[in-house]
Amino acid sequence: MVEVARDVVQQVPKVAGAGDMFQLLRDGKPRTRADLAAVTGQARSTVAARIDLLMAAGLIAPAGEATSTGGRPPATFAFAPSAQVVLGVDLGATHARLAVTDLASTVLAHREMPLLITDGPRAVLDRVAETGRELLREAGRSTAELAGVGVGLPGPVEHATGRPNNPPIMPGWDDADVPGILGERFGAPVLVDNDVNIMALGEHRAAWPGVADLLFVKVATGIGAGIIADGALRRGAQGSAGDIGHVAVPGVTDVVCRCGNVGCLEAIASGQAVATQLEGATTPADVVAMVRAGDVTASQAVRQAGRDIGAVLATSVSLLNPSMIVIGGALADAGEHIVAGIREVVYQRSLPLATQHLRIVTARTGTQAGVLGASAMAADQALSPEAVDRLVA
Ligand SMILES: [Zn+2]
Repeated sequence: MVEVARDVVQQVPKVAGAGDMFQLLRDGKPRTRADLAAVTGQARSTVAARIDLLMAAGLIAPAGEATSTGGRPPATFAFAPSAQVVLGVDLGATHARLAVTDLASTVLAHREMPLLITDGPRAVLDRVAETGRELLREAGRSTAELAGVGVGLPGPVEHATGRPNNPPIMPGWDDADVPGILGERFGAPVLVDNDVNIMALGEHRAAWPGVADLLFVKVATGIGAGIIADGALRRGAQGSAGDIGHVAVPGVTDVVCRCGNVGCLEAIASGQAVATQLEGATTPADVVAMVRAGDVTASQAVRQAGRDIGAVLATSVSLLNPSMIVIGGALADAGEHIVAGIREVVYQRSLPLATQHLRIVTARTGTQAGVLGASAMAADQALSPEAVDRLVA
């Protein structure tokens, strides 16, 4: 009965407030009051009052005059992304990247530094808070102007609470209250997600904003995927959607994974797994260097890793029908070899309708994907209809 009642409520048209109207302006295009009245179906006076509220909050600004068909040309308004700033934080196993950006993820100040995640949440988050404040000063902005903080962590995160959940390479972090600890330091909302999800978000927003269905695959020390469907990041019920590293590769029975299972994709085709197979390589970066130096054995190993990843991605393609698969992470720097291996198997194993318009490419945002995604996640929250309504109230 409850489900039925909910459906009925959703069918009642929502009376759009200032926060809802603002969503129409987030694309940055200037619009007149008449444009907004036409789209929302609201009275001109209602639209005018909401524009005044959004202007007073600094979220939109006059953007010149529209062309007129006679008489005084009407004024236009557009999103003002510099109204506030957000802090994006991308934490890896041995490094951190931080950026203060405006609300459209334009980077205003940026820092990359070595930082050991194994130092534990207190020490690492202290360092993040200190560096974040330095970057705010560098950007000439204050903590009062900070609308939110987005954080990516190199392990599983329960999305609803922002707490890491049994992260294998993050001793001391299990169930750590990351949003609470950082929120106290900055006095702003803090959102936390795993590194692959924020990379997917960053790559999607910066490089492929028009692609509605995209699968981002990170191939580095481990393997994971971030799912963009209908233009939005999909995290699943607990936040672990896209965790393909421990899916079994068909036919592999002799390789034991660190998780205890046999034949996991990560144990066979990750950058670390390939490095272990190759004499002279210990890290994914070594593998990339060997491929670039023209080492045939390394190139073949990377291509085979691509095929194994492709075998698992073929199933993902059947489930999700993405129009684009983007390969990121350290092993993506090995270039065409990995993508060629993935293409070979995905195109062979998927139905023509699913692959007709499917593109498989390497990521464009490189090492910046995570920090851009963390910024976008925080900005999305700060600019949600509910947050904007609170701000203008
Ligand atoms: Zn495993």
